[in-house]
Formats: sequence, C-alpha cells, structure tokens
Amino acid sequence: MLKVGSRGSDVTRLQQTLARAGYNPGGTDGIFGANTKAAVVRYQRAHGLAADGIVGNNTGSKLFKTRNDDFWDGKPDGVGGTPGSFPVNGSNRQKLDYATNLARQMGLRITSTTGGKHAPGSYHYKGRAIDVAGSPSKMAEYYRRLAGTRPTELFYDPQGGIKNGRPIGAIGGHRDHVHIAY
Ligand SMILES: [Zn+2]
Repeated sequence: MLKVGSRGSDVTRLQQTLARAGYNPGGTDGIFGANTKAAVVRYQRAHGLAADGIVGNNTGSKLFKTRNDDFWDGKPDGVGGTPGSFPVNGSNRQKLDYATNLARQMGLRITSTTGGKHAPGSYHYKGRAIDVAGSPSKMAEYYRRLAGTRPTELFYDPQGGIKNGRPIGAIGGHRDHVHIAY
C-alpha cells in the first residue's frame, strides 16, 4: 500500500504512471506527498474508485493494469464514454481525441475545433487543437490533468501555459477557455 509518507522506487513508479496517465503528481521524486495524493484522488474520482488518496489493491491494480494493457499500446480506450488512459505513444490525433473525450467526460464544452477567429497558422486550422470552456475550477482541473502529457500547446492563463511540453507561463487571451493542441 502506498500513501502519504511512503518513499522509494514504488512511489517513483507510481508518480511516473500517474504523470503518463495525465494526472500530474508534481514530480517523480519517490516521495508520496500532498501533490501525489491529490493526483491519486483525481485518478480515483475519474475511475469510480473510493477517493481516499491511498493506493491499495483496487487503485493499484487499476492503475498498473491500465499501464500494461492500455497505456503502452498507444490506443485510447474510450470505452463507455470514459477517456481511459492517455495514449502516450499514440498519434497526435489520438491524443487530441483523448483530450476531447476527457473534456466531455468532465462536463466541459468544446467551443472551437477549426477555423473561427484564430490566427492563420493556428493549430486549429491543422485540426490539431480544440478550445474547451466551463467553470474556472473545471478548466483548472482539465489543465492540470493534461499538463503532464507533453502537449504541443496548453494555454489557460490562471494556470499558465505549456508549449512543446515545456512551461512558458501565461500567454494572455486564454482566461475564459483552455486551448489544447497535440
Ligand atoms: Zn484555441
């Protein structure tokens, strides 16, 4: 069982698995602290598990089975309207599909796919971006869940911005929606 206060390589592996699944644990330092617990709770909520932040049999088997069966094959599962785990080895299209399904599952709206008032050359015109809107807390959660997936672009001003997987800070113009591209 892993919980707050646990340390070691099992915790590192847990943190890496959470990060790759899109639940940013705040680092992979092998120390189970508050950020790791918060990521576990988000994972548990998204998968219908008791959200206690403790990795016991149920959460552990789900998390690591997912890693083996689904996560590494690069195919989004999408079964039953749930987004499954992030397709870390999938195509950009599969990653964007994951982000789209995740937004819908969280009750967020897809406000733009292509065209609109975006600048020429925007990833929207290449079919690689979506804009997502909803309550600020849900948009923040959405940002946090995708921040660890090395997005090509992820912008939500209250949380910051990511370009080609690297934090760049808030870029402005993205207060009322989240922009995500792969
Ligand atoms: Zn956009």
